[in-house]
Amino acid sequence: MSRLCLILFGPPGSGKGTQAKLLRQSLAVPHISTGDMLRERMEHLDELGSQVAEMLRSGGLVPDETVNVMVEDRIAQPDCGKGFILDGYPRTVNQAAILSGLLESHNVAATLVYLKVDYNVIMARLAGRRQCPACGTLFSHSAGAPTGPEVCDHDGAQLVIREDDRQEVVAERLKAYHRQTAPVLEYFKSAGVPVWEVDGASPEGPQGIARRVRSLIEEKLVS
Ligand code: ADP
Repeated sequence: MSRLCLILFGPPGSGKGTQAKLLRQSLAVPHISTGDMLRERMEHLDELGSQVAEMLRSGGLVPDETVNVMVEDRIAQPDCGKGFILDGYPRTVNQAAILSGLLESHNVAATLVYLKVDYNVIMARLAGRRQCPACGTLFSHSAGAPTGPEVCDHDGAQLVIREDDRQEVVAERLKAYHRQTAPVLEYFKSAGVPVWEVDGASPEGPQGIARRVRSLIEEKLVS
């Protein structure tokens, strides 16, 4: 198989992060989450850190230039030599165009996995989502429910609501998705990038969805 760039695409709460974590193990390639990178970046007490923190709190998107540079640096790292999984990027048509150029220069072909999930399911998932402040794991009622009512399975820390999962911020994130991110799908389709539509709310759960993606990879990419 040639170098793989798997783009996990879908609305907030569609399970991109969960799938990326499952797939990175079996595919043995790094998981690049711009959301995680930005949450790390906002811990820096400089001007960019506070700009990023403000954008994340509002539910809007961070400027393209900021994320494009982060991704460009990240995919040039040696651990991306066999390929990588993108989660939360590209999120605008401009980011998609920049990524296409980068992939061309690295000689990597992209495949996009679209995790399709109903609006009502998304709302219910995001409303029930809790995060472990210690290890960052996300828990919801529908997937990976913790054993205790409000504590993390891994380290017993008290779970919290991620700041951008508050109801008013969720509405902004969904608006940003429909306005700015949804057109990215058309962009890639017209560019001839393979787009695999997968049921992101499959009754088989996250493991079943990851199996489906792996079998598509076997079937279509491994020759
Ligand atoms: P979700 O996919 O559930 O919205 P993420 O962790 O991917 O969560 O993103 C959280 C926030 O980080 C977004 O609401 C946005 O403000 C910012 N962000 C993440 N990725 C990008 C990106 N590619 N471009 C611009 N902003 C981004």
